[in-house]
Amino acid sequence: MEKTVIITGASKGIGAATAILFAQNGYNVVLNYNNSVESAKILTTSLRSRGHSVVAMKADVSNRLETDLLIKETLYKFGRIDVLVNNAGISAVGLINDIDDIDVKRIFDVNLLGTYNCCKSVAPVMVNQKSGKIINIASMWGEVGSSCEVAYSASKAGVIGLTKALAKELAPSGINVNCVSPGIIDTTMNSNLTARDIDNFLENVPLLRIGYPEEIAGMVYYLAGENSDYITGQVIGVNGGAVI
Ligand code: NAP
Repeated sequence: MEKTVIITGASKGIGAATAILFAQNGYNVVLNYNNSVESAKILTTSLRSRGHSVVAMKADVSNRLETDLLIKETLYKFGRIDVLVNNAGISAVGLINDIDDIDVKRIFDVNLLGTYNCCKSVAPVMVNQKSGKIINIASMWGEVGSSCEVAYSASKAGVIGLTKALAKELAPSGINVNCVSPGIIDTTMNSNLTARDIDNFLENVPLLRIGYPEEIAGMVYYLAGENSDYITGQVIGVNGGAVI
């Protein structure tokens, strides 16, 4: 039976790498985006030209009407939803005394409420199927905290709490909920980091390098597959062994 995955924030970075991996492995892929319509179209066209089953769907995950529609359209198109990857996220750097309240609210709305919205929209479908895998992308900073990223760290700590609670709630319905907690990964989210920032960070990374989006995608794919059926409520670090 063909499986279907929804990946939020799949127009670039970790989400795009995840979409490519699932498509290459025969999934029907719903590639969600919000602003980057061109990138989403280019990736979708490129995957389709190689025979993969991919559709791009716009939705702002911070808006539940839009996440409900994302789920509804996916069901209409593919008939079932096996995997939801809550990857959409934003960040902003600044001292707590400097950062704008509007930016802070948006971080919570996208990272935490967005993850909640997608889980809430998909839960009835997966409960009805009596199966499903939900994989949330948290962050190492949600585990240990990052100076100058208080709101981002708190939003990701919230994603970890949400994951653990929802795992307990949905386990009786045959649904696994886990999160992947990346270290620093080579995407546009980190384009503000200087070479010196990265060198400083790498002093605490035993593997002595930052990670690549494909390495997060690989863990997400594992958690979506049947080899992870006995794993739920977990936070899996993919961070080069970072000890911060
Ligand atoms: P990225 O390259 O900036 O990509 C972020 C993605 O999120 C984009 O596809 C963007 O889509 C989407 N997005 C943002 N707001 C959205 C919204 N309201 N609704 C739907 N999609 C939205 O970032 P990334 O590094 O790949 O990050 C992916 C996830 O990994 C995030 O949750 C991030 O917090 C987490 N993470 C990243 C790192 C890292 O070092 N890069 C480390 C730990 C955790 P549009 O452009 O179409 O709006």
